[in-house]
Amino acid sequence: MIDLHTHSNRSDGLDTPTELVQKAAACGISVLAITDHDTTSGWDEAISAARREGIGLVPGIEVSTRSEIGNGRRISVHILAYLPNPEHPELVSELAKTRDSRVTRARKMVDLLSGDYEISWADIEAQMEPGATVGRPAIADALVALGIVPTRSDAFTSILHRTSPYYVSDHSLDTAQAIGLIRRAGGVSVMAHPLIDFPAGASELDLPTEHFEALIAAGLDGVEVNHRSVPDFARRWLTALAQKHNLIQTGSSDYHGLGAKENLLAENTTEKEMLERIIDQAEGFEAPL
Ligand code: AMP
Ligand code: FE
Ligand code: FE
Ligand code: ZN
Repeated sequence: MIDLHTHSNRSDGLDTPTELVQKAAACGISVLAITDHDTTSGWDEAISAARREGIGLVPGIEVSTRSEIGNGRRISVHILAYLPNPEHPELVSELAKTRDSRVTRARKMVDLLSGDYEISWADIEAQMEPGATVGRPAIADALVALGIVPTRSDAFTSILHRTSPYYVSDHSLDTAQAIGLIRRAGGVSVMAHPLIDFPAGASELDLPTEHFEALIAAGLDGVEVNHRSVPDFARRWLTALAQKHNLIQTGSSDYHGLGAKENLLAENTTEKEMLERIIDQAEGFEAPL
C-alpha cells in the first residue's frame, strides 16, 4: 500500500515523524510520503525511521498557495511537492516567508479571540513543537485545552471557520508560481484534495476548467483524485481531466494523527505505476526506497 499525503507534528499532525513512520509500517504501508505544511523539517527523521522500519519514504511538502479564479474570488489551493531539492534557495526562502506569514496571521486571530475568550499566544505555543508550521489546528488545540470547544473539529466548524469574525486569511504564493517553483526545485507537483471547497450542489458545468488548464499549462503534474474530502462528481471530472492531459493520479489519506481529524492511514492509496511516474520525473532528491 502506498500513501502519499500525511502530516507529523512538524506541522499540524500529532505524531512525531518517527511515530508516523512506525504507524505506517504497522498498518502495512510499503511506501509513505511525509507532506507537512510548508516545511521539510521532518524529512531527516522520517527517512531514518523508514530505513529502520524497512519501508520506502517519499519526502514531500504540502505547499500553501492562493489562486484568483475570476470575479476577484481568491481560493486557497494546496499543492503537494514530491522530492524537490530541500536546499533550493528560492524554495527555502518562499517556504520561510509562508511560515512567517502563518505566525503573523495566527497571532492576529488569537488577538481577536482574546477580546472574547481567555486565550493568549502562550496557549498556542504550548500546543506545538518548537518550529512547527503554525495553523488553525494549533489554535483549535489551545481552544480544546482551555475547555472553550470540545474537539478540534468543533473549533473548525465554529469559531475558526472561514466565515467566523475571528478568521484572518493568510498570505501565500500564487498557485501557478508555486508550481513553477516546485519544478525548478526538481520536484513533482500534485494538487492536494482538489475542489473540496467547491460549493455543494454546484453542477459539473460550473467546474473551473480554465483554472485547471492554466495550472496544467504552468506545469502541474498530477491531481490527488482519491481523498475523502473530494466529492464523487469531482472525482469523475478530475479522472477525465487527468486522462485528457496525461496527469499523474494519486490517492492518499491526509492523516494528521488519531483525534486530530478522522482520516486514517491508507484509507486511500496510490497505484504503484503512479508512484513510479513521480519518482521518474523528480530530479530534486533521491527517494530512499
Ligand atoms: P490553516 O491552513 O491554518 O487555515 O488550517 C487548515 C488546516 O486545518 C488544514 O491543513 C487541515 O489539516 C486542518 N483542518 C481543516 N478542517 C479541519 C477539521 N474539521 N478538523 C480538524 N482539522 C481540520
Ligand atoms: Fe493540515
Ligand atoms: Fe491540505
Ligand atoms: Zn494535508
